[in-house]
Amino acid sequence: MSEGELGVVLKTTPLRESDLLVTLYTETHGRVATVARGARKSQRRFAGALQLLVLGRYQLGRKPCGDLWSLDAAEVEREFTQLASDVIAVAHASYIAELVGALLPPEAPDPHVLDVIVALWETLAEAGPSPGALRAVELELLDIAGHRPGLEACAACGATDLERGAVFDPTRGGVMCRRCAATSRGPGVRPIDSGTLQYLRAIAAAGSPAAARALDTDPAIVAADRTAGREALVAMVTNLVGKPLKSLEYIAKLGAAGRRP
Ligand SMILES: [Zn+2]
Repeated sequence: MSEGELGVVLKTTPLRESDLLVTLYTETHGRVATVARGARKSQRRFAGALQLLVLGRYQLGRKPCGDLWSLDAAEVEREFTQLASDVIAVAHASYIAELVGALLPPEAPDPHVLDVIVALWETLAEAGPSPGALRAVELELLDIAGHRPGLEACAACGATDLERGAVFDPTRGGVMCRRCAATSRGPGVRPIDSGTLQYLRAIAAAGSPAAARALDTDPAIVAADRTAGREALVAMVTNLVGKPLKSLEYIAKLGAAGRRP
C-alpha cells in the first residue's frame, strides 16, 4: 500500500452503526475528514493506524459526499504507542492533536506540521513529558497558523522597551509596551514581566522541542516564569480557537491532582 499518503490521526468519532469518522492531518491534503467504513466492527484494513501516536500511511478515496473523504486502508509507518501508558505524555500528544485540528484550516497542507508533531512524540519517547517541549510545539503551530505572538517588540507600536508595565494581549498579537497596555482591555490580557518574556524568547530560539526541554531545568528561569509563559500561550490559543480546548482542561486536572504537566 505504498501509494498511501503520510499522516497522523487527530481524532476519531463513532459514525452510524459501524463506521468511524477519522480526522487526519496528511502531508498531501492537510487536515481532512474521512469515513472509515466498517471500522467499528473490524479494523483489519487499517492495521492499527487509526490511533494517536502513530505516523501512518492513509489511502484516501474520492470524496463520497460533501467534504468527507473515504478512508480505504491504512498502515503504520512509525509508532510511539508505547507512550500510551504515560497519562501526561498522552495528554500532551492529545493537546497537540486538538490544537492542529482547531488552529489550522482544512485541506491546506503545510509541510512542517507532521515534522513538528513527530518531533514532539520523539522527545516524549526519549525523555518523557516536558513543558518546554510542549511550549515549543505550541509556538511552532501558532507560527504555521500565521499567529506567532510578538515577543521581541510591542505588537502594536514596535517599541522595544518592555521592562516595565508590559502586558501580554492575545487579541492584539503578543506583548504590549507600557503605553499601548493602557488600551489593552480584552479577554486574556495579563501583565508580563521580563523573566517570562525571556523564557518565551528562549523557547522560540530553541529551534526544536528536544532543545527546548533544556529550559525545564535552566537555573536562570524561575518556576513562576514557566507558569506565566504557559498561561500567556494558552490564552493566545484559546483566543484564536474561540473556546477552551478539552485536552487543556484535562491537563489542568492532572496538574491539580499533583502530577506535573
Ligand atoms: Zn506599544
